[in-house]
Amino acid sequence: MKEKHANPGWNLDNSYARLPEIMYAKQNPTPVQAPAIAVLNDSLAAELGLDPAALTEEENIAIFAGNAIPAGGFPLAQAYAGHQFGHFNILGDGRAVLLGEQLTPEGTRVDIQLKGSGPTPFSRRGDGRAALGPMLREYIISEAMYGLGIPTTRSLAVVTTGEAIYRETKLPGAILTRVAGSHLRVGTFQYAAQRGSREDLQALADYAINRHYQHLAKVGSRYIRLLNEVIARQAKLIAKWQLVGFVHGVMNTDNMTISGETIDYGPCAFIDAYDPATVFSSIDAHGRYAYGNQPHIAVWNLARLAEALLPLVHEDEAEAVRLAEEALAAFSIQYQDHWLAGMRAKLGLADEEEQDAALIMDLLKWMQENDADYTNTFRALTLGQLGNSTVLSGADFDAWKQRWQGRLERQSLSRGEVAALMKSSNPAIIPRNHLVEDALNAAVQEGNDGVMNSLVQALKHPYAYTSEQEHYATLPEPSSCGYQTFCGT
Ligand code: AMP
Ligand code: MG
Repeated sequence: MKEKHANPGWNLDNSYARLPEIMYAKQNPTPVQAPAIAVLNDSLAAELGLDPAALTEEENIAIFAGNAIPAGGFPLAQAYAGHQFGHFNILGDGRAVLLGEQLTPEGTRVDIQLKGSGPTPFSRRGDGRAALGPMLREYIISEAMYGLGIPTTRSLAVVTTGEAIYRETKLPGAILTRVAGSHLRVGTFQYAAQRGSREDLQALADYAINRHYQHLAKVGSRYIRLLNEVIARQAKLIAKWQLVGFVHGVMNTDNMTISGETIDYGPCAFIDAYDPATVFSSIDAHGRYAYGNQPHIAVWNLARLAEALLPLVHEDEAEAVRLAEEALAAFSIQYQDHWLAGMRAKLGLADEEEQDAALIMDLLKWMQENDADYTNTFRALTLGQLGNSTVLSGADFDAWKQRWQGRLERQSLSRGEVAALMKSSNPAIIPRNHLVEDALNAAVQEGNDGVMNSLVQALKHPYAYTSEQEHYATLPEPSSCGYQTFCGT
């Protein structure tokens, strides 16, 4: 008789499956040949109420591989639409399945999704699979974002499948287990508005409110308030991206969440030299998703959410449009406030002066003109490495430094307090492109995961400023500049 295995802590519900049927397709993952753990996030597992040691047992690895379904799971592929580089498409999970929602010991509900788990009715021409490199990349960068204090989906595990997949070359296949507040996207609403009835759309909106904005559940005007809240969370999120120099790379409407978490780490990367025009994605020829364009694109995407929600916002269409426009106008004000507050903190400023924006803009301008590394400039300012640093020098920089130090003296913080504020606002280390590439090369080509594990470990504490981490702040040789990420994920 087949032995019944102990549950390592799965406590799944399936609230998404109770939405109208048009919102998903029931879909089991496709089993794979030879699953093996590439990386497991022990601390996240524990937070979720899962026993990390038990998860590495064969019958539990089988769950991460799609070869077994966890207790209480109801696998499905979610339907959604999306504007991809400005063009509307009906999409859906083409290579992912939602296993269910884990109810954690802390009382939260998070989606457990397998990414790379085989074809679904939404796969179109894709194979439903993912390669090891890009899945480890998502693992590293999403966990780094979490360490930086930026709302994000998390990565619980990556397993190799023992099967090859074919892109431009033959690559090892892998599956990522992604953990998210939810996978509701702007594109989920676009899909419901396009394909569903008014009741379907309303069911989705009420579902989103229940999951992420419960305080609105009984409010009469809850749908415009939902829009307001999503806009507020996105304004805060995008400001955080800009402050650390994160470029998402594919801000399509299907890659923007309702929860305000960063999602879908494809061709994303962190800027080195400060330049608003920085683009990493090889398929973004026009710079639509360039670093400096992200706040504009966010509003554009949120306008698509507003359009989808219009039928629920007000029965009078003109009034609905007026309310939506008013809601959208708040984005840039809120974004600017978060950004300015964040920049002040990066410069050690705890109060406000009218001239602060100019002080900040002039530093950024100086960085751009001098090809200065964004993260390391703030790091050097934080460490007081001025004058003797090879980057922070020159007459223009000295003039700026005088203004900044004068400004620091006009506030009441002590030197120690300024240093503490700056350390907590300027990461000493980020997942630099060359570090991530080195880690991936070692893991994928040489089967050595030590480089990756050390990097992931360091990135858990990016504001620690320890001497052991210092080598991660070293800039790459000029040859690795002009970094490009490819979309063959
Ligand atoms: P992304 O660029 O990862 O946000 O994906 C955009 C859309 O393409 C989503 O609907 C994905 O599910 C789908 N997709 C991406 N890669 C594959 C693949 N290998 N097989 C099937 N669908 C895919
Ligand atoms: Mg996506």
